Amino acid sequence: MDDDQVVLYSTRGHVATIMMNRPGMANAQDTALIDGIDHALDLADADDEVRVVILAGKGKHFSSGHDLKELVGDTEAGEWRKMRETPEGKFRHEQVMYVDRCRRLYAFRKPTIAAVQGACVAAGMMLACMCDLIVAADDATFQNPVLRMTGAGVELLVEPWELGVRKAKEFLFTGEKLDAQEAWRLGLVNRVVPLAELTERVEELADRVALVPPATAQVVKDSLNQTATFMGKDASWKYHFMAHHWMHNTETALSALEARQEKQSMSEVFAEHRD
Ligand code: ZN
Repeated sequence: MDDDQVVLYSTRGHVATIMMNRPGMANAQDTALIDGIDHALDLADADDEVRVVILAGKGKHFSSGHDLKELVGDTEAGEWRKMRETPEGKFRHEQVMYVDRCRRLYAFRKPTIAAVQGACVAAGMMLACMCDLIVAADDATFQNPVLRMTGAGVELLVEPWELGVRKAKEFLFTGEKLDAQEAWRLGLVNRVVPLAELTERVEELADRVALVPPATAQVVKDSLNQTATFMGKDASWKYHFMAHHWMHNTETALSALEARQEKQSMSEVFAEHRD
């Protein structure tokens, strides 16, 4: 385990922990971090000793969402950023890097638990919601404030499934934060624990889930996910992804993006959209 890697992977007994390791960037998800999680899932999948996977973020925050600096603004244009210059490329980028990667975690055959502290924003929340269980520290907040910046949510519309449709509308239209207690009341998270005990309490929960024979856990997980499929989750996610991309390519979004590219930093962009 190399401390300067953007994703750390470790195992203890039947539990693997995938730790996002960009604490200075609030675990903003850039290409390296998304690839790192995917690679760690390969390791957890291949290791028969591993029965349960914890997804956590180092530092004060779980994840501030996608790292937009890599894709807009004045950083050097990487492969993906170049691809995003056309609607086709933008769709492809988000399909491969966001939707497929998230859906892989969602469908991962072994049970997964997200350990969430601090800010869990936009694609950070999307990522946490791909896990089977979510344990929140008492300082955790959930927010998806992208609508004012023209974004049609993020790529997978998790909110109606997690919060109910009416609350999802309020959450998205206002961009307001949900605190951990409210997230628990709405059923977005399974448990709220003191911040200082987050790691320990998540590991306890993981050890408990690991008592289920792996084949059983995997069958039941798949069946629960299939239930959601029968309720329309997959079709609605697919619909939203198309709608999300229609919005990306509108004049409304493109002119906002152009204005954003002239800004010095993303914090300047976010500051502009705060209350
Ligand atoms: Zn998008």
